[in-house]
Amino acid sequence: MDNSSQIKWLLHDATCSFNKLSDTAKLDAELLMCHVLDCNRTYLFTWPDKTLDEAQLAEFKQVCAKRALGHPIAHIVGYREFWSLNLKVSPATLIPRPDTETLVEQALLLMQEHKDKPFLGLDLGTGTGAIALSLASELKTWEWIAADFVPEAVTLAQENAKLNQINNCKVIQSDWFENIPNTKFNLIVSNPPYIDEADSHLSQGDVRFEPLSALTAGDSGLSDIKIILSQAKQYLHDGGLVMIEHGNTQGKEVRAIFCQNGYSNVNTFKDLSANERITVG
Ligand code: GLN
Repeated sequence: MDNSSQIKWLLHDATCSFNKLSDTAKLDAELLMCHVLDCNRTYLFTWPDKTLDEAQLAEFKQVCAKRALGHPIAHIVGYREFWSLNLKVSPATLIPRPDTETLVEQALLLMQEHKDKPFLGLDLGTGTGAIALSLASELKTWEWIAADFVPEAVTLAQENAKLNQINNCKVIQSDWFENIPNTKFNLIVSNPPYIDEADSHLSQGDVRFEPLSALTAGDSGLSDIKIILSQAKQYLHDGGLVMIEHGNTQGKEVRAIFCQNGYSNVNTFKDLSANERITVG
């Protein structure tokens, strides 16, 4: 094999071994190669005249073996890109999803005329800090509080704020509103656990390596959404908004929970697959 084709063949073999477990087998192989070579994906497409040294080859084999066992790419490489940020991830939290970027996008559209105001935002169940840090990076005059029940998540979100040089977001430990300061927010966002505990997709794919506490909720996945919506109103400024991510079949029920709790202008937005995903009130 000549040097220029070594990377190509390694990627080909890795892709084949991931095909059964991943819909993104080729991308997975490329991301693992980039991790080992410490390069970006563009570099791989030039089929560089480079051979992996022994240590790199051993590391590539090791990370591929992990992926073949089902471990998520984000856990193997330790990071996931979300919005414009690079976020450190850990098995203690959910891996940020592209669908959640829909929430960030809609929040920015809804807050467009307030983007330079000294407003206050709250993110409940922040995990890696994905939503709060993305919004804090865009709305620079705002202050954010990001809260999570899990101490490891609080530490991780604090680290992610530092790594991405975001200074307008404070991360605190709180079980939903338990430790939230008694103040009024202009925007409250959350991607709470919303999967039904009996959902069969919990035993398949990357989700098996994520904490159930970040994924599932009782009452067909709606119990945490009910807790948040029953309390959020007393923490909202007049005209403030609550935005919640939910399952793609929960739109109707979540709109009903908003309405039962006295929210008005209740509206649902669709995700990248055109499924109902974010409801606002
Ligand atoms: N959207 C994620 C999934 O379907 C779950 C996220 C959540 O429960 N908040 O895997």
